[in-house]
Amino acid sequence: LSFEESGLHPRLLTNVKLAKYLKPTPVQKNAIPVILNGRDMMACAQTGSGKTAAFLLPTIHNMLKMGGPAPEPEQAYERGYSRMQYPTTLVLAPTRELAVQIYQEARKFCYCTGIIPCVIYGGISIRTQFDSISKGCDILVATPGRLVDMIERGRISLCNIKFLILDEADRMLDMGFEPQIRQIVERTDMPATGERQTLMFSATFPKEIQRLASDFLYDYIFLAV
Ligand code: AMP
Repeated sequence: LSFEESGLHPRLLTNVKLAKYLKPTPVQKNAIPVILNGRDMMACAQTGSGKTAAFLLPTIHNMLKMGGPAPEPEQAYERGYSRMQYPTTLVLAPTRELAVQIYQEARKFCYCTGIIPCVIYGGISIRTQFDSISKGCDILVATPGRLVDMIERGRISLCNIKFLILDEADRMLDMGFEPQIRQIVERTDMPATGERQTLMFSATFPKEIQRLASDFLYDYIFLAV
């Protein structure tokens, strides 16, 4: 299956070409149709497999199909230069480096879609990051600790999250982020009943990851590549 045959939005196909991706990697071939179908998924995939585009491309497609970044009417006036942001997509990543890589890829794919990606991570001044989310935030890429901080400071609400992605879940658990991750997922306010689409990526699939998968995912597809 080529990118053209995948059924992705024409703008995304153009952005894939601009990124000079000629053909999908195995994880992209397998994951894109599952995600386009709206299914939850647990994928075992390594760094370098192309997993970032595997979750970003179909998720951006699904966001465009939902009508793009249109907010709830009562929140519309808050869009742009606002204190509180209501992202529809959340990507959790273990480290600043990975979060920035995901964000950079999201920027390429969001080009000319009207969807605004943002990134936040710990280790730098939180004030700088208030500015970086204040102009709108549809896709939020975040490390767990900094996100909890932003939520507690009233800068980010997760009540509009429709797409939730946990990248390198095993590394996040190794780093001790399980309490923060559980706190964050509870804040998305939608139980795993299929209303929220949830995707998990992990290099390994130990008991702790299986437990997270059964707590967060609904009727999910398991993918090993
Ligand atoms: P990832 O596994 O998502 O970290 O991606 C590893 C690297 O492969 C990144 O630099 C991507 O930009 C690149 N990449 C991902 N998918 C493709 C593709 N289909 N064709 C060429 N390069 C790709």
